[in-house]
Amino acid sequence: MMRKTPFIDRDLAAAIDEKIPTPFHIYDEAGIIANVNNIKEAFSWNNGFKEYFAVKALPNPFILEILRKNGIGVDCSSLTELMLSRAAGFSGHEIMFSSNETPAADYILAKELGGIVNLDDATHVDYYDRLCGLDETMSLRFNPGGTFTVSNGIMDNPQDAKYGMTEDQLIESVKKMMDRGVKHFGIHSFLVSNTVTNDYYPMLAKQLFALAVRVHEKTGAHISFVNLSGGVGIAYLPDQEPNDIFVIGEGVRKVYDEIFGPAGMTDVAIYTEMGRYVTGPYGALVTKVIHKKHIYKEYIGVDACAVNLMRPAMYGSYHHITVLGKEDAPSDGIYDVVGGLCENNDKFAIDRPLPATDIGDYIYIHDTGAHGFAMGYNYNGKLRSAEVLLHPDKSFEMIRRAETPKDYFSTFDFSDYKL
Ligand SMILES: *Cc1c(COP(=O)(O)O)cnc(C)c1O
Repeated sequence: MMRKTPFIDRDLAAAIDEKIPTPFHIYDEAGIIANVNNIKEAFSWNNGFKEYFAVKALPNPFILEILRKNGIGVDCSSLTELMLSRAAGFSGHEIMFSSNETPAADYILAKELGGIVNLDDATHVDYYDRLCGLDETMSLRFNPGGTFTVSNGIMDNPQDAKYGMTEDQLIESVKKMMDRGVKHFGIHSFLVSNTVTNDYYPMLAKQLFALAVRVHEKTGAHISFVNLSGGVGIAYLPDQEPNDIFVIGEGVRKVYDEIFGPAGMTDVAIYTEMGRYVTGPYGALVTKVIHKKHIYKEYIGVDACAVNLMRPAMYGSYHHITVLGKEDAPSDGIYDVVGGLCENNDKFAIDRPLPATDIGDYIYIHDTGAHGFAMGYNYNGKLRSAEVLLHPDKSFEMIRRAETPKDYFSTFDFSDYKL
């Protein structure tokens, strides 16, 4: 079994806890920047390459600003994600707007910010045109239908997914949009989530590049980019081989040369919208053991719960756990690590081998940098945690305070009630 190493130790966790009480999510700025540099390098063979970070994975303006300063754009799908991106300094074609079932107000703000709008459905051509007028550069989301198999058993059923349009609809839309003055087109598709294999992007690219050639041949449209979207996974399990972004970049390059070379379309830019891969491994949820319970099983009760990290409760996802300060102790106990929701699925780990664990220990839950804090909610009146940024010099900064009861009650008019 490979080992997963926390990016903070017990002393640092304790020092942070003194100023910013647990639970908190902490993000490793140095790790994020190094990763982003690797992504850019892996695709540097493509002139127009740009990664648009999926804001939903980690919607914090401090993180977004770090990404912007390192040449990354944003992929938004809602009004507030657009507002957040504006606040973090993004504008124009640094913004991709990939939404579905889109309210009018969202399209209007995307237009105002000058973002690239990715239409999810053929009917949205007229909808967006009436609302905002079509743009010179626009993107269309493709759904190939059928099933899509990558490798080592990874597959999904695009035919059952609500996203995107068929090839015929896409081609008819391009024709209609050209008639109305659209000059440059992008093609986008997102087929499988969290693929831990270097084959996903190259296989998706092969389909989308071939589609781009067909669209160009049938309509004469200028295809300015192909957006491979998200779905590049991370190794949540300690014995999983992580993706190698350089192998992925090379794989896409090979398909690019094979398909776009003969078609004379070598000016097509590659865009990506990775979320999980960009920040996932560089975040952790730090929580403290507040109770231990022995009934039919051994329980470790912590001060975080599923509202702070929903993935295990929602999908049964594995998140590795390290008891800080006990990294080298043998894992000779079997525990369920649980939060305080009145829901029995509020378990960060089930039957997990861990070292002997005591009240007051810091539990470090790995890989919460994407779809972690972001999926938070307030069930049972539980509150969202703080977010902390660990700078490259190991100093730390609170980049979002924890919620207080006042936040919880802020959407209700209490003038007639006494709390
Ligand atoms: C969620 C999402 C992404 C990011 O997905 P990851 O799995 O986090 O990489 C990208 N694009 C769109 C349209 C999405 O909905």
